[in-house]
Amino acid sequence: MKQETGNFFSLSGNEKRINKLINSLESGVLLLGPKSEILSGNEAALKILGLTRNELNGKLSFLSEWDAIHEDGSPFPEPTHPVSTVIDTKKPLTNIIMGVQRLVTNDRIWLLVNAEPLLDDEGEIIEVICSFSDITKHKAVEEKLTWLYQSLEIKAFELATSNTELERFVYVATHDLQEPLRMVSSFTQLLKKKYGQQLDEQANEYINYAVDGATRLKRLILDLLEYSKFSSNREEFTHTDMNAVLQDVTTMFSHELEKTDTELFISELPFIYAKTSLMKQLLENLIGNALKYRSTIKPVIKINYKEEENNYLFSVCDNGIGIDPKYSDKIFILFERLHNGNGTYEGTGVGLAICKKIVEMHRGTIWVESEQEKGSTFYFTISKAQNQTHEKL
Ligand code: ADP
Repeated sequence: MKQETGNFFSLSGNEKRINKLINSLESGVLLLGPKSEILSGNEAALKILGLTRNELNGKLSFLSEWDAIHEDGSPFPEPTHPVSTVIDTKKPLTNIIMGVQRLVTNDRIWLLVNAEPLLDDEGEIIEVICSFSDITKHKAVEEKLTWLYQSLEIKAFELATSNTELERFVYVATHDLQEPLRMVSSFTQLLKKKYGQQLDEQANEYINYAVDGATRLKRLILDLLEYSKFSSNREEFTHTDMNAVLQDVTTMFSHELEKTDTELFISELPFIYAKTSLMKQLLENLIGNALKYRSTIKPVIKINYKEEENNYLFSVCDNGIGIDPKYSDKIFILFERLHNGNGTYEGTGVGLAICKKIVEMHRGTIWVESEQEKGSTFYFTISKAQNQTHEKL
């Protein structure tokens, strides 16, 4: 064996080519004797282990002085090292991950190790071929990813907890506010009923303001209560016929549709995987707004849908008073209203915030495209992801 020239096997004829081949590999390859003594190694083995050829050949065994550890940090006792195990069992071993302390530079590297016995005719070990690659960089990336994933999980948990706590707080606060509000409202009304005749016009006006304020506050509280209930919504996702949902909603608005002589255009809608009652609430809010924010011309409302690769895209289009595009995002924020028009348009500014929550719960998005005085089209998507096999039953 001419190890000083970096040859892997003793040389003759074709073996020169084999030596060249082994030396050109990126994986380290060591040839070891039956007592784990290192007989030879290729260039990559020297590079990975950080040793010169002389230092390597002096080693009696592979990894015995290298402070080998398992992935979980526990020690890798020498009798269980891949080469020792192969010598014991005479069977090959693959994909063993070991952390080792390099002898010269003293830094820790991670190796993916395979070991293969070479047996004589009697089945006794002649040599062991041990190959290994340096996976330190992969391990570092993997550890970083694990760390990132864990921090993400913690953050998501913290966020969910604080969100639930906040919604619980809003629920309790609004719930508890109802009782004193009921008292204010009923006693001011009683005051008006019993003493209204004895009070002057201004006093009666003040009482009316108080009653109006209490009524508005009651609506606000009820809407807020509705909004805060979402985190505790336990309804199951089911195959939901959007035609049936829409039918329910239009029946609910039938009186108003007739009164306003609204023309309704509805296309055939799909079955989707959704929380049915929330789909109803969503369409109720959007169609209710299309009716509420109508202009002076004959109202026309169109409900359509388009199937996209990952979503169903629905649209509710009206020819009403429209929205200034610069407020397109603002209207989805809780309590944000553009038109209160001195009481012309009743409302609390909660409806679209609820729509946004519902859509997000279905892994979708909601937005509006609108032009003032021309009308608005509200678009929302519902993800197909929950169950892609039930697009239309
Ligand atoms: P509310 O109707 O109770 O005010 P919403 O959250 O449903 O609350 O709507 C927020 C605001 O968005 C409304 O105050 C209104 O200014 C505007 N808006 C919603 N829908 C329409 C629509 N179809 N056309 C014009 N403006 C609309």
